[in-house]
Amino acid sequence: MYQNGPAFYIRTTESERVFLTAIDTSGHEYLHLDKTPAELLLQRSELNLSSLRDQVMRLWESYPLDGYDRAQKKAELSNLTREVYEIAETLRETDSLGYFYVITQLGLFKPQLEMALHSEDIDLMDVGATLLNILEEPALSLIPLRNMFEVAFDGMERATQRDRYERLVTTYSQVTPPVVNRDYPVRRIIEQNGDVPLSLSLLEYRVESLDDLHHLLFSLYFTQKKQRIVRCECCWGYFIPPTTRPSLYCDRIIEGKSCKQVGPGLRHAEELSRDSALRTYDALRSRMKSRRERYTNSAPDGRGKLIHFDFQDYTVWDENALAARKAYLAGDISAEEFLRHIDLYHDLETYDVEAPQKPVKSEWRKRVESNIRFDPYRDYSDFMMLDLGLENPQWHIITSEERTQDALGDSHPLRKK
Ligand SMILES: [Zn+2]
Repeated sequence: MYQNGPAFYIRTTESERVFLTAIDTSGHEYLHLDKTPAELLLQRSELNLSSLRDQVMRLWESYPLDGYDRAQKKAELSNLTREVYEIAETLRETDSLGYFYVITQLGLFKPQLEMALHSEDIDLMDVGATLLNILEEPALSLIPLRNMFEVAFDGMERATQRDRYERLVTTYSQVTPPVVNRDYPVRRIIEQNGDVPLSLSLLEYRVESLDDLHHLLFSLYFTQKKQRIVRCECCWGYFIPPTTRPSLYCDRIIEGKSCKQVGPGLRHAEELSRDSALRTYDALRSRMKSRRERYTNSAPDGRGKLIHFDFQDYTVWDENALAARKAYLAGDISAEEFLRHIDLYHDLETYDVEAPQKPVKSEWRKRVESNIRFDPYRDYSDFMMLDLGLENPQWHIITSEERTQDALGDSHPLRKK
């Protein structure tokens, strides 16, 4: 089974977990991971390989391999090869799957590399490019993975696995090979006991690239509903909620407080800033509270002209208003109806409100959806600009953060970084 070259093997089990091993051409097994597809996907999505991309960029610039002196170009290629192996070694700790991929692919490419170093007519620029493409692949394979995460898991906490799946396959319906449900070589596992030699339910998949591995993990993820991946509205990190209850916020601690602690307050403030009907609701609610305080705190004979408004009245008002708020947020009633509903004591002067600002789809999101290979590292890198319209034009840098902010527009995690 090993003569086909290095590959990842994913074995399904009767539980929701899978075993992942990587086997090289000589049959040597590299790693054993025993996790659920959701856990493996999450782990992959959290990798930060931007320094690998910086390094590859530097190598492209340092070794152009475009001179006329062939001996010098060969020396350059040797040095490039040495650097590629050194950088690949740094992946061993940070990304064991990526490390396996790079090392075994470099191994497969070795005969061609040797040949190039001894020949007089092979294009060394092509050979150098192949080395760099292999080295960068662990980082490049994360680009579609991250875009798929955003499409399937952002704002989808109240959806089902089927909704997430459908959003993903419709968004990327033009992608070939298809996202998620691709063809993979698969074999049955031999049963150790019993009359039936091959297992009906236990399978072993074989994939050769990191990209196929990610897509296979997605398809295995969609065969179950025990674990779901959610994007935290507070920090935009992804997490697996421990229960089936809707979880909008994760447990990550930032500046001493978890997203779960600060999320609801930040969300409320965000809703208020977008919607004047909700601001009116909030103001009216505090007015009702102080009316209740005034009434219940004054002596019965001192209530004089006070409106009768005790705890009971407040509870009735509050329950009615909360139900109306819920209906309004769900889009069942208009802003005007909402205000009419909560104004039981005719405190409001008008029910005319500005329409709430609907969040518009950001430039960023449009790009994520239109291109599974949308690459912020490349498309929103630091940018030098010279404004010739100015009197004394000067070069200045628009940083990748500024460009990203621009592209995101109004959409942002509740906790701005
Ligand atoms: Zn969070």
